[in-house]
Parts: sequence; structure tokens; C-alpha cells
Amino acid sequence: MNKRNWEFRETFFVLTYKLFLNGEFVDSSTKETYEIRNPANGSLVDTVARGTPEDARAAVDFAYDAFKRERQGSSAPPINISRILQVASDLVRQNETELATTMTLEQGKTIAESKGEIRFFAHTLEYYAGLKARGSQVNISDPSKLAVVEKEPVGVVAGIVPWNNPILLMGAKLASALAAGNSIVIKPASTTPLSTLKVGELFVKAGLPKGLLNFVTGSGETVGEELVTNPKTRKVSFTGDTATGKRIMQLASSNLKRVTLELGGSNPIIVADDADIDAAVNATLNGRFRNCGQGCMCVKRTYVFEKIAPIFVEKLKSKASAIVLGDGMKPETTMGPVHSKPQLEKVSRQVSDTIEKGANLVLGGGAPSSPELSKGFFYLPTLVTDVDQTSKLVSEECFGPALPIITVDSMDDAIEQANSSIYGLGASVWTKDLARAKKAARELEAGTVLVNSLYGAGGWEIEVPMGGFKQSGVGREYGIEGLESYTETKTTIYGS
Ligand code: NDP
Repeated sequence: MNKRNWEFRETFFVLTYKLFLNGEFVDSSTKETYEIRNPANGSLVDTVARGTPEDARAAVDFAYDAFKRERQGSSAPPINISRILQVASDLVRQNETELATTMTLEQGKTIAESKGEIRFFAHTLEYYAGLKARGSQVNISDPSKLAVVEKEPVGVVAGIVPWNNPILLMGAKLASALAAGNSIVIKPASTTPLSTLKVGELFVKAGLPKGLLNFVTGSGETVGEELVTNPKTRKVSFTGDTATGKRIMQLASSNLKRVTLELGGSNPIIVADDADIDAAVNATLNGRFRNCGQGCMCVKRTYVFEKIAPIFVEKLKSKASAIVLGDGMKPETTMGPVHSKPQLEKVSRQVSDTIEKGANLVLGGGAPSSPELSKGFFYLPTLVTDVDQTSKLVSEECFGPALPIITVDSMDDAIEQANSSIYGLGASVWTKDLARAKKAARELEAGTVLVNSLYGAGGWEIEVPMGGFKQSGVGREYGIEGLESYTETKTTIYGS
């Protein structure tokens, strides 16, 4: 593989991570680098180039030139983007272990979770390789004319990606933007750029013409904001915090860039008294504690019917107590650390606030006592009951392994409490009564409602659109809607 400088650091062979601009790995304009540390033990994983606004501008210029070149059909032979995405998908599968290992070291999740994420990425590339935006011919009132409606690429896209699912979230942006005929500049999160940069190598191998895909590492405030405000960027696709999303929307309004914002969620799960309790417990367990609770589509609040609450809590406590915390590289680990110190402190604050407001701590509530875990950002699986609706675990998005359990007396009560949030990303309901399920599905304010159903192992399904109501976002990613969000609609009317 290209530009590989082998070094021996601690226990892992790594390449020197640089910016990926115009098909090549290059130093940042200042040649500065910074360290990436393993959240499980604080050890050095590697160093990476610290990109600057100047680097971001260069990336956008390369992407702009590549887009124009491809639109004018200057590549000879013309590129077959479907074929390139398919080859890239095969290469991702072949390199699953290396990509997943890098992600676990920089992000902290278990190696099984990282492998699942890499497989999801490969599937995303394959899915978009076979998808085309819809065009149509329309009959208009004057029969002598012909009206054609086509989807055209928007141009240069900026993809800004968070650290919780660095490859999966980057993958949907990259695959749909390229499949729709755009070029893209991706800014990974500052703390998880390494696995992303390895993907650059695979696209070079897959034959992607230079400039169509670029990666700029560096901070959100500098590199991110340059990408959002650069006049040549036509669309911003962002995943991350709601507050950052608002800032991006404001900045992007200067020249009315298209935006897709996939933001926070405080997803409720409702468990009715006729639900299959074991299945609902498993869904809650997996939904809350996978990826250490750090997912926009994780379960964040539980509303359980009073009658079954004691047995539900007992079963959930028993299963959550069996979670094995540890270094994600160890096969016995079932939950890794929280990703960073600020995130650990945030979860801690949210739990303390909830307990101060009168909640009953059923499980966890702090860091594990094992000396082996003392250098990492570990937090015990935590359950609280008798929760006040104003406490932070309910009113804020909790991006960690802590779950409030609230009792309700009816489906109406559950739906009302579930909807009393600024967020509206996902929601889930467990009941065997079809009428109740339909009522909940209709009334829950969420972009995705899951009825007696657990999202796929990767977190969600690429074939269906995903996005939020209310302050959980703007627009949709995934599926054909996701592809078309990277296009402009052009109508051409041909006279006789
Ligand atoms: P951010 O929204 O700050 O980070 C997400 C991405 O945006 C990163 O690449 C970041 O870069 C970049 N970014 C930050 N500020 C700007 C800016 N002004 N302009 C352009 N890009 C920017 O999330 P945090 O990492 O701070 O996480 C905070 C909280 O957000 C979490 O606790 C969680 O509640 C929520 N969150 C939700 C996610 C979701 O999928 N819904 C994903 C991640 C977080 P950099 O890494 O350099 O800061």
C-alpha cells in the first residue's frame, strides 16, 4: 500500500498518518502533528497530521477541479463509479481486521463491534454501487413539448464525521456523494482519524481518480469551519452534536449551502405490559450498552408499564451486571471504555444530577474499581429508577452506558413522556397488541420507529432513510433519499 512508513510503536505496526489530498498522502502545511491515544489505557496509538484551514482550502480546490473534470467527461476512459465502489467494497472486506483493529485502538469499542462496523461500511459501498438517482419524463399540458426531470450532482461536498462510529458514518456520506457524481472532502473527528485515512489507500487501489475523495484531519473549529464556509463547497453533510449542527447551519446559510444534519437523539423505548419481556430486555440491553452507549440511535430512555416494571428491572439488571468491561482488543470484553475524558465527565455529571434529583441507583453509577482499568475512561453499566423527568439523563442526550427507567400507567402516558423531548431521532415500542403498536408508531415523534424490532448489528439499515424530527436533524441519509440528498433536481423542457 501506498506511502507506508513502517515504525514500531508499542505493540502495533502503523503507517505515518498524513492528509489525503488529491490521491496522495501529504504533510499538513505547517508539518505539525498530534497524538492519538487509546481510550482503554492512555497508550500512544500514533501521531497524525494536524490540518489547517489552508489545507482544507487546498482539499476543496482539488475536489472542485476533480468534479469539473469528471462532469466534463475528461477522464479517458470515462470512470465507472459503480465499479470503483464495488472494488472498494471488496478491498474493505479484505482489510477488515486491519481497519477494525485501528478503529478499536483509537475509538475504544470492542473488536467485534469494530468488525461489524467495517462490514457495514463494505455493504454501504456495495449498496450505493448499485443505486442510481431517479430521473423521469413528465407529460405537461402542452403535448408538443417534452419535459425531463433529472438529478444532477451538487458538486463539492463536505462530510464532517464524529468519533462514535467513524467509519460507518463517514461511509454513508462518502458512498452516496460519490455514487451521485460528486466529489467529497471528509473531516474525521480529531480523535478518530486513523482508520479513516486507511480507507484513502483502499480507494487509490480501487482506481478512484485523484481529487474525488480527500481527507483533511484537524479541528472542527478550524478545518471544519473552513469546509463549511468555503464558497466552492456546495453541500455540508454533518453528523454530531445538536449545538454543532446549529452552528453549521448558521455558517452554511451565508451562501445557502445544502445541509444534511444528523444530530443528537434521546431515543425512548416503551415496554408495554403485554410485551415479550425477555425480548424487550435484550433490545434495551443491546440498544443502550453497545458501543458503550455512544450512538445516536442508542436507547436513551426506558418507559415501562408499572405492572411489569419490577420484573423488567430485575432481568435487565441481571444481564447488565454480566457485561465485561475492558480493553476492546481482548476477546472477553463486551463493553469498551467511554471514548474520551470530556465524554466520561459528561456521563458522570448526568448520572450525579439524576441521583441528586431523587433517582434510585440500581446498578453501577461510577468507574470500576479494578486497577487494570484505572488508566482508561471506563464507566460501569448504570441503571436508575424513580427518575425525575427534569434530570439530565432524561432531558439531555446521554452518550454513555447509563439508562433511566421510568414507569408509566398507559400507552398514552408513555407516548406523551417519550415525545416530551427536544429530540426525535428514533423510538421503539414493544407490545403484542397490533392496535397499540400502530397507535404508538403513528404518534411517536421520531424519524425511525421500531416495533418489536432491534436495529441491525451495525446500528441501523442502509436501505432505509434515517434522520430526525425536531432538533435531531435536517434531511435524511441512507437509502435512495440519502443518495438524492446529494443531488440537485433539474427540469429541462424541450420545445418542438
Ligand atoms: P461535535 O459535534 O463537536 O463533533 C462532531 C464533528 O464535528 C467532529 O468532527 C468535530 O471536530 C466537528 N466539529 C466540531 N465543531 C465544529 C464546527 N464549529 N464546525 C465544523 N465542524 C465542527 O461532537 P462532540 O465530539 O463534541 O460530542 C459532544 C456530544 O455530541 C456527545 O456527548 C453527544 O451527546 C453528541 N454527539 C452525537 C453524535 C450523533 O451521532 N448524534 C455523534 C457525536 C456526538 P473535532 O473532533 O475536531 O471537534
